[in-house]
Amino acid sequence: MLKDSGHKVGPLPQIDASAKYLDVAPTTSLQDLENMIRGRGDEVAGVFDRDGAPLFAPKIGRTHDVTFSPEEIALIEPGATITHSHAKDVTLSLADLGAAKQLDLQEIRAVGPHRTFSARRPRSGWPTDRKVKTAFETAYLAADLEVQRRKRMSSKPISASKEEDFYDEAYNQAVVEELRKLGVRLKETDANSD
Ligand SMILES: [Zn+2]
Repeated sequence: MLKDSGHKVGPLPQIDASAKYLDVAPTTSLQDLENMIRGRGDEVAGVFDRDGAPLFAPKIGRTHDVTFSPEEIALIEPGATITHSHAKDVTLSLADLGAAKQLDLQEIRAVGPHRTFSARRPRSGWPTDRKVKTAFETAYLAADLEVQRRKRMSSKPISASKEEDFYDEAYNQAVVEELRKLGVRLKETDANSD
């Protein structure tokens, strides 16, 4: 989706010298970046403008978050797209939706080891933080109940890892359902099909 707008030559700007950035070619497209960061244990985020051009070098965060400096945030205009890695195939988080609203993104994307999760800005705009928070709380509860249900239904004990898989699956599905009620369509695609 990267358009060759010709104005990006040389390395991508690295705004905070103390922060870690991924050393990639300045023309790295969203798709290429997602293939590079898929399966990472830490979180890496890339920001692209409305024409698909990267705004600054992809930033390396910790396991569960990447923080942007005020200088970086100032560069992000409404309509930008952020993609980032998730260590597990877990859907977009409350924080991800919060960032989408705060920055008025066109699209927020997350790449897990095997799946890609994405949501585009609804026509009416991103829902309020309060509504999104309630949606996630409902989803946590729904996932818990689903795991309890499956444990009751199972004739033999369920291992902790299996239980975690059940939870993640139920959680991903519950988030999709709750966000749909707020007008946000959360898309999930297999890594190989997009
Ligand atoms: Zn995320």
